[in-house]
Amino acid sequence: MSLPDSFERLTVLFRKLPGVGAKTARRMAFFVLQQPVSYAEELAACLSGLKDRIFTCSRCGNITDREPCAVCSDLLRDRSTLCVVETVEDLISIEQAGVYSGLYHVLGGRVSPLDGEDLDEECLAGLVRRIGEDRIREVIIATNPRIEGDLTFHAIVDRLGETDVSVSRLAYGLPVGGSIEFADRTTLLASLESRVTVKRKE
Ligand SMILES: [Zn+2]
Repeated sequence: MSLPDSFERLTVLFRKLPGVGAKTARRMAFFVLQQPVSYAEELAACLSGLKDRIFTCSRCGNITDREPCAVCSDLLRDRSTLCVVETVEDLISIEQAGVYSGLYHVLGGRVSPLDGEDLDEECLAGLVRRIGEDRIREVIIATNPRIEGDLTFHAIVDRLGETDVSVSRLAYGLPVGGSIEFADRTTLLASLESRVTVKRKE
């Protein structure tokens, strides 16, 4: 049985969304169909206006609908600390966790020779410029704990050699609530290497 064209087109579009397979796409299309007309209209208006209204903050690289973004313009934040992340998704995860109150710098890329990816020179230059102009005292590098994250971390550290700023990196280790028994070798090694001293020998 063939489905109506417009319904089929909607499922094809939904299928392009990350993590959505054929069945889920069909369920989503049915869901839209079963809602009041106002829902479909609001969804359509929201989608069509998205690219016009959302742009990248010129200071930090976050997505925003005003310049500068909500993080950069929040005067209550710690403006001397900069957290460097690979993507806007990483920034949002840290923000939603509510565990950090400084500013951000989104790289929008990473160093990955296998994928032919490298950091954008302008972005690195912008980071160095910002550290000077905004009087940043500490840079926390929050790249992902994998090889590409390591390479990206080292590229940033090399570049920050010329700046007068403290540089730290998020610790590797055991996940909170996890167990040593089930940790893999790499995680155990990383935990050992990033161990924290709680008492020094006198
Ligand atoms: Zn910003």
